[in-house]
Amino acid sequence: MFLVLGDQLTRRPFESENALMVETSEFARRYEYHPKKLTLIFSAMRHYRDELREEGVDVRYVHADTFEEGFDAALDGGETVRVQRPAAHADALREAVEETGATVEFVGNPKFLVSPEEFEGWAEGRDGFRHETFYRHVRRETGYLMEDGEPEGGDWNYDDENRDFPPEGYETPEPPSFPPDETTRAAVEEVRDEYETWGESDGFDLPVTLEDALEALDDFTNNRLDEFGPYQDAMLRDNAKVNHSLLSSSLNLGLLHPDEVVERAVEAYRSGDARLNSVEGFVRQVIGWREYMRHVYRRRCDEMHETNALGATRDLPPVYYDAETDMECLRTVVERVRRTGYSHHIERLMVLANFALVYGADPHQLDDWFRLAYTDAYTWVTTPNVVGMGSYATDAVSTKPYASSGSYIDRMSDFCDGCAYDVDETTGEDACPFNSLYWDFLDENRDELGDNHRMSLMYSHLERKDEEEMEEIRERAEEVRRKAREGML
Ligand code: FAD
Ligand code: SF4
Repeated sequence: MFLVLGDQLTRRPFESENALMVETSEFARRYEYHPKKLTLIFSAMRHYRDELREEGVDVRYVHADTFEEGFDAALDGGETVRVQRPAAHADALREAVEETGATVEFVGNPKFLVSPEEFEGWAEGRDGFRHETFYRHVRRETGYLMEDGEPEGGDWNYDDENRDFPPEGYETPEPPSFPPDETTRAAVEEVRDEYETWGESDGFDLPVTLEDALEALDDFTNNRLDEFGPYQDAMLRDNAKVNHSLLSSSLNLGLLHPDEVVERAVEAYRSGDARLNSVEGFVRQVIGWREYMRHVYRRRCDEMHETNALGATRDLPPVYYDAETDMECLRTVVERVRRTGYSHHIERLMVLANFALVYGADPHQLDDWFRLAYTDAYTWVTTPNVVGMGSYATDAVSTKPYASSGSYIDRMSDFCDGCAYDVDETTGEDACPFNSLYWDFLDENRDELGDNHRMSLMYSHLERKDEEEMEEIRERAEEVRRKAREGML
């Protein structure tokens, strides 16, 4: 018997003629998830079931409240259940299956390129490690973008070519849309009728089958990859996608495998269809960051759900749920997520997580919000990104917090032009809220961050402010926090 979990819809990983799939409602009620996220998972699972049946596999598809109930109903005890090693909660899964008397055998998981054994082999004996060294190791091992043992083009990374802002009137090709078929329409209705959710259910258009996902991959590598790099950090009011791949929901469901995605991108470079800085930037996200996050979470998951290195305990302000604010950046991005369940990386990091960070919001409340709001969110990837990279509640992922004033958003977006707040002001009624919060954040966290050499430039700017200016900044920051708390910002 092969057990197929809902986020393991990979190319058929088993020979056996029997498969078990369990759809649980308890999981879907754990949060008020985005309806598009629930629809995506239910619809993709049901399509996968139907495809397996067409291939002649005898699939037992169980609807249950919990996994335990599902396993009780479907397993007789005594059998061996084979399942791809999950990226999170492997012990809980083993326990739930073994309660029935069955035995679990974990097999490889093609959703990831680097196995736990390979990662541990690489990490062994290292006194701490970082993403960059891991990424170079994976490049060497796979040979992706390597030429005679050296990185293609001579450099490991071309980020200095990837921080441009597009010219006025810049347009990007529209990615394909996947309108709901009958199975998806039924899932949309079911989610609408049976679950408490946050976000808009209309307009579902995500890939739910292998065929859809491959079409999305084709479209990205043929039409958008070439210009992915230069504008990958740009945030545009009227263009949520810019040239991002939009492949995370398919990768995280297992519909696409990371090696095929990266191989297509490298092929586009070799055939002259995509520039090196774009292809390397994309490859690094997939074989570097995605794999790295998975393993950092696997090793330190217990700590990550507890840690709060900066002691940030304020409640997440209501703007994350209602988008009601005059801050153009925050309003645009929260509305975008509420509508689609998606925003790109820099909007997640430098608008949503950055605001919560300098505001001093509890990182675990932010983690919960990201998990319910995004269609690509699963604990193994959301938590290290939010708690580690976005909140710096642990140093497991980055060596300094991604904290910034409004100037970064001004440089990399067109949000500030139409905003009620003035990005050049720090104090006063009209001052950009990011500015006072940023300085106040540095001041509040002097004990934790003041000795970090990567923060020394920021602290040298802070030291130049006299006590009177600092007092005004603190007052403005307090005012901003009060207004945010009351939903009046
Ligand atoms: P592209 O920009 O086209 O990138 C290509 C692929 O690289 C992505 O599809 C993704 O698979 C991978 N990737 C890029 N960056 C990361 C990263 N930091 N960690 C893991 N994979 C990465 N990604 C998720 O898949 N699920 C999440 O729940 C999630 N939450 C995030 C929360 C925060 C606070 C931050 C800062 C990042 C988060 N990310 C998450 C990472 C990243 O933002 C998304 O993977 C990316 O925006 C997905 O859009 P895309 O497919 O268009 O990506
Ligand atoms: Fe955001 Fe400040 Fe710019 Fe307004 S001025 S869009 S609040 S960064």
